[in-house]
Amino acid sequence: AIFEGLSSRLQETFQRLRGKGKLTEDDVKEAMREVRLALLEADVNFKVVKQFVEKVRERAIGQEVLKSLTPGQQVIKIVNDELTELMGGTQSRIAQAAKPPTVVMMVGLQGAGKTTTTGKLANLLKKQNRYPLLVAGDIYRPAAIKQLQVLGEQVKTSVFSLGDQVSPVEIAKQAVEHAKMHGFDYVLIDTAGRLHVDEALMDELKQIRDAVQPEEILLVVDAMTGQDAVNVAENFHQQLGITGTILTKLDGDTRGGAALSIRAVTGTPVKFAGMGEKLDALEPFHPDRMASRILGMGDVLSLIEKAQETIDQEKAQEASKRMMSGEFSLEDFLEQMQQLKKMGPLQDILGMLPGLGNNKALKNVNIDDKQIGRVEAIIRSMTPKERLDPKVMNASRRRRIAAGSGTTVQDVNRLLNQFAEMQRMMKQLPGLAKRMNK
Ligand code: GDP
Repeated sequence: AIFEGLSSRLQETFQRLRGKGKLTEDDVKEAMREVRLALLEADVNFKVVKQFVEKVRERAIGQEVLKSLTPGQQVIKIVNDELTELMGGTQSRIAQAAKPPTVVMMVGLQGAGKTTTTGKLANLLKKQNRYPLLVAGDIYRPAAIKQLQVLGEQVKTSVFSLGDQVSPVEIAKQAVEHAKMHGFDYVLIDTAGRLHVDEALMDELKQIRDAVQPEEILLVVDAMTGQDAVNVAENFHQQLGITGTILTKLDGDTRGGAALSIRAVTGTPVKFAGMGEKLDALEPFHPDRMASRILGMGDVLSLIEKAQETIDQEKAQEASKRMMSGEFSLEDFLEQMQQLKKMGPLQDILGMLPGLGNNKALKNVNIDDKQIGRVEAIIRSMTPKERLDPKVMNASRRRRIAAGSGTTVQDVNRLLNQFAEMQRMMKQLPGLAKRMNK
């Protein structure tokens, strides 16, 4: 998961701070040394680390912190604030033209994920009932135009292409005209990438920029390349003037150095994060939520949003009513597992819950397709009566179900135990909810 190493190191450090009733200046200094090392190990730019630690130290040895009743908590809060600030404060949105269409230029080096991200962005805009036009402006990479057209088909949005014999500047200009005539409200221009930043590339990008005057120039960089990504961003910003970055492959980035440094180094915000290869794996970048994730305070807001997007609300409400009244059946159990699976890998979901992000016991928990398939087969092999009232399940019924579902009696037993455990937890829910409301 992202920030894995940093997260566990910081949490260890703060665990120790929290354990102490009183803090001295030396305690803070010691903790800041550890924070510094943790950040450097996460591949955060060294200048950024220096400034960050200095800021936190100054605030933390302030009188009101050390004298407070919970100095450890106060220090964590300061780190949380400063991490949020470092990544850009509140979340940035895409600019909007006073008069549509809003023109967005997508730039970046080859392989960073530019074309894929252009498709993902169109997908995101479509979900918000926008009407984006994709523009095939990378005429040099042989497969780029085709790739964008395939993405366009998947997203069900139009792709503007003039083949590979017309100059990208001309393509961009005509695309904007086309968008105006046909009422598109966003124009997303996929531009050429190179292996390295070079003059020819920059010249072409500048010409496109000057010809269409985009509201946004978004640089797509690969988060896994760490400080290289930051250097690339600095370079593009100096030469072209970018309005923000999109970090791709954050799903594979365990260190997080680019995510933590890029805003401070370039002065431009991270606007989105790529979290996987699929088209819906692009998320708005929320600095505050990222900071809480790093500190193990969870990211409940993202979790709720994700649930709202993927879970069938009506079914969920019915199920929760049944849970509260203790009528939760094996059918419901199956339904819940299927819904949970739709939200993505269980590990990612658990990572968003407070205090669970670094729980070692949960590291290897995985609900995979195979397991869900087995659970489903077992439940489908039961009679309706058995599903509603698993207590009737004696040894011979269990054997029959195992045979019918192609599993073993142990599998059936395990499922029934899990279900009983869940039911027991459900019964406690109403009381818990009451206590929490107090
Ligand atoms: P371009 O040369 O910059 O246009 O790069 P592409 O869009 O062709 O992407 C290069 C590779 O990166 C492809 O295999 C993509 O599927 C992959 N990719 C892009 N974004 C992400 C991401 O957020 N996560 C992961 N895991 N892979 C990504």
